[in-house]
Order: sequence, then C-alpha cells, then structure tokens
Amino acid sequence: MDALATPPATDAASPLEREVARRRTFAIISHPDAGKTTLTEKLLLFGGAIQLAGQVKAKAERRNTRSDWMAIERERGISVVTSVMTFEYEGLVYNLLDTPGHEDFSEDTYRTLTAVDSAVMVIDAAKGIEARTRKLFEVCRLRDIPILTFINKMDRETRDPFDLLDEIEKTLALDTAPVTWPIGRGRDFAGTFDLTRQRVRLIDPDGRHSPLSEPIDPSDTAAIAKLAPGVDAAATAEELALVRDACNPFDLAAFREGHLTPVFFGSALRNFGVGDLLDGLGANAPSPRAQQAAGRTVEASEPRMSAFVFKIQANMDPNHRDRIAFARLCSGKLTRGMKAKLVRTGKQMSLATPQFFFAQDRALAEEAYAGDVVGIPNHGSLRIGDTLTEGEELSFVGVPSFAPEILRRVKLADAMKAKKLKQALQEMAEEGVVQVFRPADGSPAMVGVVGPLQLDVLKNRLSAEYSLDIGFDSSEFQLARWVTCEDPKRLDEFATANRSGMAEDLDGDPVFLASSAFMIGYTGDRWPGIVFTDIKDVK
Ligand code: GDP
Repeated sequence: MDALATPPATDAASPLEREVARRRTFAIISHPDAGKTTLTEKLLLFGGAIQLAGQVKAKAERRNTRSDWMAIERERGISVVTSVMTFEYEGLVYNLLDTPGHEDFSEDTYRTLTAVDSAVMVIDAAKGIEARTRKLFEVCRLRDIPILTFINKMDRETRDPFDLLDEIEKTLALDTAPVTWPIGRGRDFAGTFDLTRQRVRLIDPDGRHSPLSEPIDPSDTAAIAKLAPGVDAAATAEELALVRDACNPFDLAAFREGHLTPVFFGSALRNFGVGDLLDGLGANAPSPRAQQAAGRTVEASEPRMSAFVFKIQANMDPNHRDRIAFARLCSGKLTRGMKAKLVRTGKQMSLATPQFFFAQDRALAEEAYAGDVVGIPNHGSLRIGDTLTEGEELSFVGVPSFAPEILRRVKLADAMKAKKLKQALQEMAEEGVVQVFRPADGSPAMVGVVGPLQLDVLKNRLSAEYSLDIGFDSSEFQLARWVTCEDPKRLDEFATANRSGMAEDLDGDPVFLASSAFMIGYTGDRWPGIVFTDIKDVK
C-alpha cells in the first residue's frame, strides 16, 4: 500500500469528528543520546513553534514551564519531568508527549505511553537497537501502539541500513517497511530517495526542508549521480533495487496493528528527514483511538467529555505551589469553565483554567478535543489514574503502577514532624514521585522507587517544599508485590499470618514485602490461591 494513501480524514460528519480526525497524539521512544531532544526541537520548528490558531486565547503566561524547572535536573543535566508539547502543522494538531530520558524515571515514561496513540522510535544509525529502546518498545507492544521508526545520525558513520532493518525485525519481531532510503551515508550523506514517490530529497546545507526532485527511475545511475554528485550512484541504485525486491511494502493495516514499522532515514541535527517523518505521522498514524474503561470502550467521537490523568507535576511555578494534573481527553470536547465529575470521589470540579502546553509557554485552553492533553491546576484533588467525565460513572483502566526495585525506610531528623512527613509522603505518592507503603505493624513508612535518582528527587523536594530533612535507611525488604485473592477471607488469613511483611499502598491495597524473590516463591507455594503481581493497573 502506498505510504501516503490515507490523507487525514477531513470530510468526517460532525465538527467533533473532524477535530478528532485531525489529532495525532504521540511520544518519542529512544535510548539516551539517540537524538530525541534534537528531533523534538526540529519537529517543533515544523510546527512554526507553535500556535494553536483559533483554539487558544493567546494569553501565554510567563515562561515557566521549561522542562528543566527542577534544580536537580539542572544539576545533572537530565530531563526528569514529562511534559507535553502541542503544535499544528498542515491542518493537523500534534500532541507530542515528552518522556524522561533517564531510566530511573521509567515509570513516568510507561504511564505517558498509556496516553498516546502512536510512537516514534528513534535509533542511532551507528548503534542500532539499544537496551532502553527495546524496553520502551515492549511497553508500546503491550498496548499495540503503532510505531514509526526514525534512523537518525545518517550524517555520521553508520551501520549498513539493511543490517539495521534486519536487527529491528529480529530483535523486536517487528516487520519493517522503508519509506525513504539513504543516498550515501556519513560524510557522503546527500539525502534520501522517497520510495513511495520515486523522488529524491537532498540535504539543504542551511538545514531548510528542501523540496523533492522530479520523479526519477531508481536504476538510473546517471540521474542519481547528477542529483548527488558526491555519492556512489551505482551502489545506491543497487541498494534501491534490493529494497524493491527484498523489503516489505508499507501496509497501513499491519502498521496500525503494531506489526510493521515504516522506516525513515535522516539527521535530526541537520533537520533532514524530519518533514518526511511528520508527513508519515500525519498520513498514517491513527487519530485518537478508542480507550478501554471498566465495563465499556469509549470512542473518541462520543460527544460527552471524558479524560484520565496520567501525570501530576507539582510546583512548576515555585511561586505558586501549583499542582498540574495532565489529563488525556478520551472523548468529546472540553470547554473552559465546564464542570466535570471526578469519578473516584463523585465530586464535581470546575475546569476553570485548563491549559495547553507548548515548548516554552502555556496558554489557557478555551476548548480541547479527544486526543488533546490539558494541564488542570489543582490543589491535590486529582491523582494519577483518575477519570473525569460529564457525569458518567466511568473508570479508565490501564495507567499502571510497577513494583519498585528499591525499598527504603524514611528516616526523619526531627521526630516532631512525623505528621507533616506523613502528609508530604502522601502527596509525593499521589504525584507518582515515589510509591509509599505503610507497614501493617505500624513501623515507619517505606518508599519504593524504580531508580535511585527518584530518592534524590524525593529528598530534595521534601527539603525545598516541606522543610523536612530526611534520610533513608536500608530495609530488610527488597521486593514488593501486590497480593490479591478471589476469596477475601483467604486474603485476610494470609495478611494475618504474614503481618510482619504486609503493608498498604496509597490506595489501601495490600502489598507483600519480601526479602528476596525466593521468599515470594516460597510463600506463594505455601499459599495457593494468593496471586502476587508486580504490575497494578490503577483503576
Ligand atoms: P537524546 O539524549 O536522545 O535527547 O539526544 P540528543 O538530541 O540530546 O542528542 C545527543 C547528541 O547527538 C547531541 O550531541 C546531538 O547534537 C547529537 N545528534 C543528534 N542528532 C544528530 C544527528 O542527526 N547527527 C549528528 N551528527 N549528531 C546528532
């Protein structure tokens, strides 16, 4: 199938359907250093950095949403927080959900991936598939998220492109379909051959998005040599013949089902190939997909607004101590000032100041549609996993919690502040900074994290925001598992018999703490019927 066979649906029936059809909500997954940040910048450039005409009152606030707002992040030069960037290009609205680069914050990344409809996988052409790319890919696969691949840094020494495709196919069990093919590489990288349109796009030395050539025959070495004088035209023609004979054609259905990835070659640094990638996203990536709620599936084009919270970010503006919940709209239209029901508590809340986020600024969202991500300022009423509706009792499923890999007891310097610490830990857990487990035996709270940097963030934030001086004690427990059982009585018996290892998580769900994987296996064998899990879907 032609890579550009499906122009965005603009002839849909209702205005809501039209708005939904023109949205693309996606994330970029990659290993650190592959070029995610550079690609993000270049994508935003295409969006003309970034006005949502007609929807946003241009009431940008001060420049306070830069993703390096946190001191620790600046110190370490890493991106800790997840944010969203919205831009419009050629009639489509793109919501790019940024994910933290450091693997210690992978929980944040996993949650963010529950809020996208597609992903771009960036691969360093010299390195191929790296560990973190692979892990994030697996998370996308769990949700059948369609993936486009951008093979970056073609302007440097690279591996053989066929080799790279082969590696994607073998290590990820994902079919590949090149959409463009590199002409030369490394110092000789001159541009790409567009396999769908049979035209050449050359690198612009000034980094502009250059136009396509007239159609040329891929076996016409003279024509290739004329367009790209520095490259080995015969070798390029040979490769193009091999691509035609050996590579998969693009197949929209296979892509949408997550079985096949269209592959683009380029250089983010030189702003090359980024436009083709964006065209690929626009033409083929799905518009907002239906979302699964407990009991029913919610279609994006349903008229009534629904949304779920996948991320909480506090103190983006230290002067205001505000807390922003990032909510992905799943259906309908959000209008500023509307009332929404917070399903967990049954309470109504007024969406007085929902916000859109751009690269550097935020602005009031007058209206937003399914697929959009809005920031909702609140003072602690919203939690990760929360569902907002126009009244319906609805709960989206699938924003997961992961069992921590490190457990520590919190040590408080000033025992008089125990109550304040309890409150602060509760808020940090609601924000997803750490997980908190309260032992059944009444001993001090334990915190659980995926990576040690999270502990640093917790310590810094408790000090800066709550004036609490804490340390961490190692714990006799190494692992935490949620425990469930079909028979509540049996679960009670289990909890009583194992009281010294039992704790409650933020939601009051029972957690079994163990000193080793062996202990979990051993206990499991003695308690048939009790299920131990390391992922909990937040309901
Ligand atoms: P991230 O860690 O994935 O966000 O990667 P960055 O975007 O920060 O890029 C890592 C390094 O690779 C930086 O020094 C970039 O300038 C460089 N880089 C990114 N894209 C390219 C590219 O296309 N070509 C070359 N030569 N360098 C690149």
